[in-house]
This record gives sequence, C-alpha cells and structure tokens, in this order.
Amino acid sequence: PPTGQGAPHERAVDHRPDTDAEPVVRLTGVQKHFGDLHVLRDIDLAVAPGEVLVVIGPSGSGKSTLCRAINRLETIDEGEITVDGQPLPAEGRALARLRSEVGMVFQSFNLFAHKSVLDNVTLGPVKVRGRSRAEARKEAMGLLERVGVANQAEKMPAQLSGGQQQRVAIARALAMHPKVMLFDEPTSALDPEMINEVLDVMVELAREGMTMIVVTHEMGFARKAAHRVVFMADGQIVEQATPEEFFTNPRSDRAKDFLSKIL
Ligand code: ADP
Ligand code: MG
Repeated sequence: PPTGQGAPHERAVDHRPDTDAEPVVRLTGVQKHFGDLHVLRDIDLAVAPGEVLVVIGPSGSGKSTLCRAINRLETIDEGEITVDGQPLPAEGRALARLRSEVGMVFQSFNLFAHKSVLDNVTLGPVKVRGRSRAEARKEAMGLLERVGVANQAEKMPAQLSGGQQQRVAIARALAMHPKVMLFDEPTSALDPEMINEVLDVMVELAREGMTMIVVTHEMGFARKAAHRVVFMADGQIVEQATPEEFFTNPRSDRAKDFLSKIL
C-alpha cells in the first residue's frame, strides 16, 4: 500500500484548496430534527475543491447526520445543500447519480457480503455509470492495486481483515469518480494495527487533491492532511481552525474539554 505519511505529524499534504472556485459541497442554514432533538442547528459550511476537512466532536453531536445529509441518506428540515452547485435531487435517477458523485466510507465495513471484492468495486460503475464489464474490471484492478489489496480481488469480503475491507470500500467509492469523498469514522471499528493502513490510503488520496470530508478523532491524520478542522457540539459548528491552531490552542471551552478527553 502507498505510504504518504512520513514522520508522525509531519505535514503530508502541501496544496491549497481552490477557495475561489465554486465549493464542491455547500450547506446553508441547514436545520435537522429527530422529533424533539435538534441535531443540526443552522449549519453553514462550504468545502472547496481540493480541501480536506476534518470534522471532530463528541459522540451525538451530529457528525454522522451531517455526512448522511450530504448524501441525502437523511432529509433536512430547512436550509440548502448543494453538491457541485446543484441542489440535492429528491429521488430517482438524479439521486442515484448524486450518490455516486459523493463517495462514502462508513465506520462499519458495509461491503456487499455476497459479492467478491472485485464485484464490489465493479457493480456501481456497470449498473449506475453504464460502463462495460471489461472496462470496469480493468479500472477496479487498478484501484485495488492502489489501495494495496489487488491480490484479494477474487475473495469474499468476510475473508479479508477489517483494514483490507475498509480499503476495498475506498476503492469501491473511487470507482464512481466521486467529486467528494465522505469518511465517517472510517478507522474507529478497526483493530489498532490496521488503522494506519487505512489512514495511509486516505493521506495519499488527500495528496492527490481529492476533496474530502473526514469525521475522525485521529489527530495524526488531521495534522498531516487536513486544511481545516471543524469542531461540532450539540448540532452546531462551535469552532473551526487549522489543525495546528485547533489542537494547540482551542478557543472554546467545549473544544478544550473534548480535547482533554481524547488526547
Ligand atoms: P455523531 O455522529 O456526532 O455521534 P449522530 O449524527 O449520529 O452524532 O447523532 C446525533 C444525535 O441524533 C444523537 O443524539 C443520535 O442519538 C440522534 N439520532 C441519530 N440518528 C437518529 C435517528 N434516525 N432517529 C432518531 N435520533 C437519531
Ligand atoms: Mg457518528
């Protein structure tokens, strides 16, 4: 697998996001309730092309709901979300296309259990994008190579380690040529020795200029790869800063308290 990480905490991503361009993802005044629970409170957030945004915050603060709303796995009550300047479509083929443009990697390894690793990666391109099987297989093998699991292509997901499965999940999302990749705590269900093999792939993706929204408490990843850290608590964006600023000099009491618990 590629290793873009270098020494711990050494910055591995040098490019600047293109903040003059149309944001890849933009949330404006987003509100979301689950019954009486106000989970997203007036969220305004724009993610620029090439930006690596790390979202951090206590459990229950709304991080997963935010990710799921961007993919329209959750609806919102108020406000607007656009991807590449387009409001999220409500349903049908337009929604399927949107989902393919927003790659998503979850905490739990959610590969198709009854399909081989290779089929997991080719299914979307063939079914949603209308690619030929041969073309899709060729590209999938390249992607599996890139994430370091090409030799597992014919196996079933359950035969792979968690770290390998998560890397297949990344390859599967990349096969759709997404405009942005969302990662929701992609390493928090992994055994410790597998965390870095997944983070290495993510750092490499960041270096290549992929626009990424990453929910994670992996401070090493944030320091190496993030352009910006957003701290959420109780459904609000409480504070945002560069990783250096945020980890060394958090301003809010909520962030100070949170960091004192995870560091
Ligand atoms: P985080 O990812 O930051 O831990 P979540 O976005 O998962 O937070 O959840 C935010 C809050 O919304 C939590 O209190 C959670 O229990 C609640 N919640 C999440 N999904 C649902 C749901 N489908 N129905 C009701 N409450 C939910
Ligand atoms: Mg979550």
